[in-house]
Amino acid sequence: MAARIHRLDEATVNRIAAGEIIHRPANALKELLENALDAGSTSVQVLVKDGGLKLLQIQDTGHGIHKDDLGIVCERFTTSKLRKFEDLHSIATFGFRGEALASISHVAHLTITSRTPDSPCAWRATYSDGKLVPPKAGASADPKPCAGNAGTTITVRVPACSAVQRAAAYAGALEQVEDLFFNVPIRRKTFTNLAEEYTRVLEVVQRYAIHNSRVGFSCKKHSAQVADLQTASNASKLDNIRAVFGNNVARELIEFEFESVRWQFKATGHISNANFNTKRFTLLLFINNRLVESPAVKKSLEALYAKYLPKGTHPFVYLSLELNPETVDVNVHPTKRHVQFLHEDSIIEALCEAIDQRLASANDSRVYYVQT
Ligand code: ADP
Ligand code: MG
Repeated sequence: MAARIHRLDEATVNRIAAGEIIHRPANALKELLENALDAGSTSVQVLVKDGGLKLLQIQDTGHGIHKDDLGIVCERFTTSKLRKFEDLHSIATFGFRGEALASISHVAHLTITSRTPDSPCAWRATYSDGKLVPPKAGASADPKPCAGNAGTTITVRVPACSAVQRAAAYAGALEQVEDLFFNVPIRRKTFTNLAEEYTRVLEVVQRYAIHNSRVGFSCKKHSAQVADLQTASNASKLDNIRAVFGNNVARELIEFEFESVRWQFKATGHISNANFNTKRFTLLLFINNRLVESPAVKKSLEALYAKYLPKGTHPFVYLSLELNPETVDVNVHPTKRHVQFLHEDSIIEALCEAIDQRLASANDSRVYYVQT
């Protein structure tokens, strides 16, 4: 007998949507970092407790959020970045869907403290499920004035008390999706490995720090004295690669630059030379400034380097591709982690050919390091 169709209630719809974006703390952090960059920040500081399952805080020096917008900022589809569909192809910001803060507020409590340059003070507000909520019982939910620097500080707190409950809060939305659409038994994701969650968070900050080297980044555990990552504003990309991956990698990199008029793309980066190899392939790939994954690019680079490296070893590649925005579709998925672009095969082929030439020529003029 056919089950009757009914409309899902709003809370369920929002939770499902949240699950598409926020699977784990590192996803939330990526969204928050991109917001900080969209806001033109020169400094971004990240603080993490229990791998982000207890607390994630990100403080930026960007343009802030207007006090009068604090009421709707965490609702779904509220954005300052997009007005109409036609603007999508020329969008220069990371965000445009207005879903990130909303999604995070469905898996955690959010506190936003923000000051715009023209405001005499900062304003603070707390959110849950997309809406303003009182910071404590009996208090008013309205934004409150407070002291604060220009810029925005966002604190994400998962309210449950045990690590497992906290993990369940993050996983909750995702599970509902699986439960509803795939009808699998509830599979609780238990993020028992807080260290792994922290590593993922740190990795996102490191990669954005390398690509956005004009912005100073830091990432620190709540309990730690020293930061695990600290970059200066106005450092070079190579400086930041050195800070993250060490000089053993940095000194083996060659600068790469290539432009194809025919396929309308530009590539820049730092790639390891033919004499460097490592156990794991490290690929930092940015397409139009977004940190993305591309199995196709990865596979082709592996095949290319296989010509140069000993069997079973891999290169280090940091690559930034700038494609004609009109040929890139970043709207494939809410996380924007996967992008599609036109002429993918031809672009990858041209890119690999250029890298091949660069590797071959660098090999001829190789610098030998003499131990002293
Ligand atoms: P989107 O980035 O897609 O617009 P978000 O949910 O990530 O959606 O953010 C909603 C809006 O909140 C943004 O459009 C922006 O106006 C504002 N915002 C979020 N984070 C910041 C920040 N760190 N600094 C300034 N404005 C912010
Ligand atoms: Mg955003």
